[in-house]
Amino acid sequence: MHTDTVKKALELLGVSAEEAEELKKRRLIRIMEYRDLTYIVVTRDARGLTQGTIAVAGRTEARLVPGYPPITRVLLPSIALPKHFIDRVVVEEKMNGYNVRVFELEGKLYAATRGGYICPYTTHRIRRMQGEKLRKLIESLGPETTLFGEVVGLENPYTRYYYPEAPSFGYFIFDIHTEEGFMPPQKRIEFVENHGIPHVPVHGIIDKNDAKSLRRIMEKLEKQGREGVVLKDPQGRVPPLKYTTSRTNTSDLELGMKFFFEEGRSFLFSRILRQVFMAYEEDWNKQRLEEEAKRLGRAILLPAVQAIRDVAEGKGLYEEYTLRFGDEKEMIEFEEHMASLGVVVARGEVRRQDNEILVTYKKFKDTATSIASILRTGLSPLD
Ligand code: ATP
Ligand code: MG
Repeated sequence: MHTDTVKKALELLGVSAEEAEELKKRRLIRIMEYRDLTYIVVTRDARGLTQGTIAVAGRTEARLVPGYPPITRVLLPSIALPKHFIDRVVVEEKMNGYNVRVFELEGKLYAATRGGYICPYTTHRIRRMQGEKLRKLIESLGPETTLFGEVVGLENPYTRYYYPEAPSFGYFIFDIHTEEGFMPPQKRIEFVENHGIPHVPVHGIIDKNDAKSLRRIMEKLEKQGREGVVLKDPQGRVPPLKYTTSRTNTSDLELGMKFFFEEGRSFLFSRILRQVFMAYEEDWNKQRLEEEAKRLGRAILLPAVQAIRDVAEGKGLYEEYTLRFGDEKEMIEFEEHMASLGVVVARGEVRRQDNEILVTYKKFKDTATSIASILRTGLSPLD
């Protein structure tokens, strides 16, 4: 590790060398490298810095990349909106992928995940897909600019949902941060559009008391199987709020319960709470309640039982996905990156297509180990 770049990065965080040792020991920061860069990740909220903040230093330049603040969730929109907002509300779509910050250093673009790690895979794909346009946009706003967007589609190692507008890989902006802070939503939407860069869909600007319009938008999203909305003040005077559809709640559970000792556990209570309050807010009748009760039960029970049967038959439990690389170096970089995060991925089939390499990976799940142990002993690990 280059001590001078580490020093530069620490300076940006306002942390002395001794303090850094302490923070490292307490696992509040982590020092990482990517190609020519050294960067420090704030792994948990500490010393006034938000989780995911990055201090990054290259050979000649260094900068801070701000973390993305958490967004409060709405359970009862008819109560929350009039209370929280001032007059009007921008209804942006909440796309279901992973949060990616794009920033520039020494003339090159980099992409970091919400946790604050520069992801080599995402970096290469975004550079190839819209590198020029994103650089122009950043350069028009100043070198300290950070773009926040969602990567969606099926070709990524993190969150995979199909979007017709980006089946394999797309990047959609939802926030911009400059030296002056976050750009107000109304201005940002226009600005991004004028640069010919994809922005998350905007479903309208409504009055804060117009619960009906929000309901209509949510119904449309529900039908299309899309996640939900993030509600924002047009001028950014109050923080945003998020709200997701009923279908998203149950399909999260369905996915989570495939690996129930991992995702399932933390998903259960939160998703049930969301459903329960939605039933109250939307005043579901007996028939709708029955339907939703069945859907909820199925989402919890079916994938979990299937997982046990699979393990009993000697099948592994894993997530599987295919990534697209420009060359072998990119593939190795990705694999080393995952290993450095302690994530074990197994490389499967490798195919060459035109000038690209398509690689299928399996990420094995610990739930299988827990299930196997229960199948051996017949005893519960819980109580
Ligand atoms: P989980 O960690 O359970 O997957 P999440 O990553 O979706 O949840 P949330 O806190 O539920 O995180 O939602 C905030 C995230 O939503 C943001 O970090 C961002 O990645 C994503 N997002 C998608 N669309 C938007 C949008 N229009 N505005 C802001 N954030 C958005
Ligand atoms: Mg998300």
